[in-house]
Amino acid sequence: MNVTVLSGGVGGARFLRGLVSVVDPGNVTIVGNVADDLEVLGLHVSPDLDSILYGLTGLADEERGWGRAHETWNALEAVAGLGGESWFRLGDRDIGLHLVRTELLRRGRTLSEATAQVATALGLRARLLPATDDPLRTFVETPAGTFAFQTWFVERGHRDEVDAVHYAGAPEARPAPGVVEALAEADVIVITPSNPYVSIAPILAVAEIRGALERRRVPCVAVSPLIGGRAVKGPADRMLARMAGGTTPAHLARCYDGLIDALVIDEQDAPAGLEAVRTIATRTLMSDDDARARLARSVLDAAGAPA
Ligand code: GDP
Ligand code: CA
Repeated sequence: MNVTVLSGGVGGARFLRGLVSVVDPGNVTIVGNVADDLEVLGLHVSPDLDSILYGLTGLADEERGWGRAHETWNALEAVAGLGGESWFRLGDRDIGLHLVRTELLRRGRTLSEATAQVATALGLRARLLPATDDPLRTFVETPAGTFAFQTWFVERGHRDEVDAVHYAGAPEARPAPGVVEALAEADVIVITPSNPYVSIAPILAVAEIRGALERRRVPCVAVSPLIGGRAVKGPADRMLARMAGGTTPAHLARCYDGLIDALVIDEQDAPAGLEAVRTIATRTLMSDDDARARLARSVLDAAGAPA
């Protein structure tokens, strides 16, 4: 059974850990968001791809919730001491990956090729594809102005309310090699419990990816990132409240209109009262291996493909 997954960073990676514990990772293709990517200190950083890489290879720092475990911060402290740009936190081990990726890109490799190389080196068994190799970047419009995604998210601590989101480069962006094929060959398509506006929507902003989802002949199941109408972490609930008008399953489902057949929600958000989309209520807090595996099984059940 082939499973193709559209994923953001941390929430996506948590879900994927459960998924690869219940299906053969060799049958899992992950299409990762790259619209959060940025250049810092001359390095190409792909935060969502890296959260997935670290999460699935046992390298993630679970307590901090992002980046690598056993991390040290010497390089960034040296940068700060020299008056360099240090608002985007990069640990020493993490920088090692960014150095390799940046060098590969500079030598003319695509982001897909660079991602495949580091994924192989880290022993990733699932296939990780960037949504696109083309430059695609999220911008948020707020009452304080329009900001590049990471400026708003990290530098400003996502304190500004968001009125609209743009995906620069989307009209020209083509899916990375293998993405459309992975959607066409999937037996099940999954949308992880990620931020709908800044993790999943930028993937869907690539017209051929959205088209492939619209034309699907297999079930597509999304998982809600909300529990009791609140995001487990981050600004997804505030964004939904302001841009969709609320944080119920119906508001979330509208973000994926025509693209999903089932929505897995937390039991605290049931009943969902949706008609076009089947809803499955379960416990969605991914607090440990068991909880992650149970959620993955619920998703496959919802797709009619039990593991
Ligand atoms: P990012 O790209 O690193 O910001 O991560 P994602 O967009 O992939 O995931 C962020 C979302 O994950 C947030 O909206 C959280 O509410 C959600 N999330 C994190 N942990 C959990 C969990 O245990 N259960 C559920 N249902 N959602 C979670
Ligand atoms: Ca992200």
